[in-house]
Amino acid sequence: PGEQLDQDPKKKTVVVLGNGWGSTSFLKSLDNEEYNVVVVSPRNYFLFSPLLPSVTVGTLEARSIIQPTRYITRHKKRKCAVYEAEATDIDPVKKTVTFRDASETNDTHKEVTIPYDYLVYGVGAENQTFGIKGVKEHGCFLKELKDADRIRRKLLDCLETASFTGQSEEEINRLMHMVVVGGGPTGVEYAGELHDFLIDDLRKWYPEIADKLRITLIEALPNVLPAFSKQLIEYTESTFRSNKIDVMTRTAVKDVGEKSVIVQDANKNTHEIPYGLLVWATGNTARELSRKLMGKLPEQQTNRRGITTDEHLRVAGAPEIFALGDAVAGQYAPTAQVASQQGTWLARTLVKMAQAEKLKEELNQLRATNADPADVERVVKKLNRAADVPSFTYSHQGSLAYIGSEKAIADLPFFNGSFSSGGVATMLFWRSAYISSLYSLRNRTLVMADWAKVKLFGRDVSRE
Ligand code: FAD
Ligand code: NAD
Repeated sequence: PGEQLDQDPKKKTVVVLGNGWGSTSFLKSLDNEEYNVVVVSPRNYFLFSPLLPSVTVGTLEARSIIQPTRYITRHKKRKCAVYEAEATDIDPVKKTVTFRDASETNDTHKEVTIPYDYLVYGVGAENQTFGIKGVKEHGCFLKELKDADRIRRKLLDCLETASFTGQSEEEINRLMHMVVVGGGPTGVEYAGELHDFLIDDLRKWYPEIADKLRITLIEALPNVLPAFSKQLIEYTESTFRSNKIDVMTRTAVKDVGEKSVIVQDANKNTHEIPYGLLVWATGNTARELSRKLMGKLPEQQTNRRGITTDEHLRVAGAPEIFALGDAVAGQYAPTAQVASQQGTWLARTLVKMAQAEKLKEELNQLRATNADPADVERVVKKLNRAADVPSFTYSHQGSLAYIGSEKAIADLPFFNGSFSSGGVATMLFWRSAYISSLYSLRNRTLVMADWAKVKLFGRDVSRE
């Protein structure tokens, strides 16, 4: 692929895996003057995940929250290569990465292995199922755009099927029962969006069955949102109660069937709960590629939850690989905030590393030609500054979550303490915070237009 890449053999090659929060913020911040850059990801766009729950009910359209990766790379100083492909193997000794194009159109040249000088490992994580039977077959995850689309189709399918003539009462009740497993922020935000759809639109479009819709959120721990403050947990649970979202805490799903789940309560009693739509949001686990890489570094990679790095994001056992975001099992929570700060830090660090290399060469030349000691001293000082790379430190900007009925919660670091707030004003803050962090003017415009459209005309219930 070298010829297509516009590669400069004198420059080092950085291969970037993934184009999620970590890799995209790396790409955006990197000055690629000194590097050949190759991006490899199975999707060709960046997804603004915080607004993904809004796509499941049509509050936002899918295209409003994605941005083509080529939009970022085309504005770079030097040409970058972008391949829509899945990395399948990494050889940390030979320093090569193998990737595969899954497209059916490509039936001649599907798999390629290329060398890297540095590898940016930002492949994220997979959905956790804890090996529970039936989850993958019958549950809907909420991580990628295709998941939100699947949920939207399935939800509308349940509504249309429940409206079909002659359905039994029992079948209508099952189809109209939406079960969410996992009371982390993903499950809570999804339940909130679903509630909005019920209140704002369902009664208009499906008046005959609207009152049958039930939402149940199942959480194994004693409360939802364990990472938020006690006050906001109570606020969320009481908002859910008044919104008729049934929250079942201390209840764990043990088995998933096509039409019902088996749960175990705190007294170890089991119950069967019929459902029409099941959304599964029980957190993350390491991707197969990460497990494969960890298997090649068995002495250093002993944490099964994900990749272990040092404080400079270097993969333990493979210092030319930098891992960030959800792929890493470390001291930070798997959030967009962490991943994007790591991406920015890494971009600056790689630029400093390139500067240091150049200064080393300059110094060698000066010494070889017995240059003026003052010039040598000046370069040594510059080199020391470039070689002094502080370790990555995370700065927490607070946590926000939308909980439905135009309310959001916010846990914000405030001076030395924290500030918790919930309600409509917080929802406006939530909206403006996300709008300002959306990557492009195009996305901001599309999202605001979608919000206005829904306010004026309601959500669209046509099922493509
Ligand atoms: P990701 O963003 O998941 O990106 C991984 C990338 O790797 C993707 O581009 C993927 O296509 C690619 N990839 C996968 N496999 C391969 C492979 N084999 N080879 C190459 N590329 C590969 N966090 C917050 O801080 N605030 C929020 O409000 C928030 N809301 C969220 C809402 C939802 C619904 C979800 C699911 C998550 C939310 N998060 C939020 C968490 C946040 O999305 C993640 O922590 C973040 O995406 C992690 O970034 P990442 O770059 O590590 O991984
Ligand atoms: P999570 O890990 O935060 O929560 C999963 C929940 O599922 C846990 O509370 C767990 O107890 C529960 N659970 C696990 N197995 C269960 C079972 N069998 N039955 C019932 N409950 C079960 O997962 P998430 O919500 O997907 O979030 C993943 C990451 O993304 C987190 O770091 C989160 O902070 C971040 N995120 C943040 C936001 C936000 O800030 N607004 C939104 C979404 C995700």
